[in-house]
Amino acid sequence: MSDLGELYQELILDHNKNPRNFGELTDATHRADGFNPLCGDKISLALRVEDGVIREARFVGSGCAISKASSSLMTSAVKGKSKSDALALFACFHDMVTGGAAPDEPTLGKLVAFAGVREFPARVKCASLAWHTLRAALQGEGEAVSTE
Ligand code: ZN
Repeated sequence: MSDLGELYQELILDHNKNPRNFGELTDATHRADGFNPLCGDKISLALRVEDGVIREARFVGSGCAISKASSSLMTSAVKGKSKSDALALFACFHDMVTGGAAPDEPTLGKLVAFAGVREFPARVKCASLAWHTLRAALQGEGEAVSTE
């Protein structure tokens, strides 16, 4: 494996072990739950959106290392972003993990750590669950989302 690959693997392991933004958010304005039945990953996402900007994002849940690291990095990435910028970032991330586009590092930053999942179709859902849940929360769909 290349040095870059190892670096990214370490990043995912670190965020799995020490997830950022993990915990409840009492003053949330938007919430959604996500479930990936293929792997058993679950996430409950809570956001505080003010003036169209995501001011705070926190999650609780359980799942594999990829889903947890992705939730940790997603919540870190969208804080301070407008709703439309966050959804554009999801589109860019989705294109990368599904193999539709090369990793766009200037846009995605650390999120390019997940570029490798494109080689593992079952893992794509683990990596994208947090983002599907984000979209559901922003669009105000009250129901739980499933990757299936
Ligand atoms: Zn998983």
